[in-house]
Amino acid sequence: MSSNKIYDILATVSDPEIPVLTILDLGIVREVRLTDGTDDVEVVITPTYSGCPAMDYIEVNIRAALQEHGLGQVKITTVLSPAWTTDWLTESGKAKLKEYGIAPPVGSADKLSLLGEKTEVECPRCGAKNTKLVSQFGSTACKALYHCRECLEPFDYFKCH
Ligand SMILES: [Zn+2]
Repeated sequence: MSSNKIYDILATVSDPEIPVLTILDLGIVREVRLTDGTDDVEVVITPTYSGCPAMDYIEVNIRAALQEHGLGQVKITTVLSPAWTTDWLTESGKAKLKEYGIAPPVGSADKLSLLGEKTEVECPRCGAKNTKLVSQFGSTACKALYHCRECLEPFDYFKCH
């Protein structure tokens, strides 16, 4: 099996917290290593944040998806450095987040920490930038809760790192 085919299979594995996102959209798959002459594969991933409970599900789902497609031993290696940042989210991933009603991360993660997270978050429903942070913690630790002053709707902002 080619590594392209492996990526096709990985593209069917979604994030348990935000099911519209695949693990490729999240940018957590670092590398796929195939062992010549066998059906064994090693998948190198970087978790979105350490201690994220969703990561256990993601590992189980990666293994299940690959073995369903006839792969043999599936080894999952977790690499913590360099750490995942929202910069690794793909453009299509950001678009899917917005469609799902979650504001995608704004700007570069490096810049954010320098500016002390003073960001203009756009409302995913009406596109207004007149929004207000309600709580640093939304429905999960990865999201903050915002309120739109234009359409008056609350929404989640994907803020992890
Ligand atoms: Zn709005």
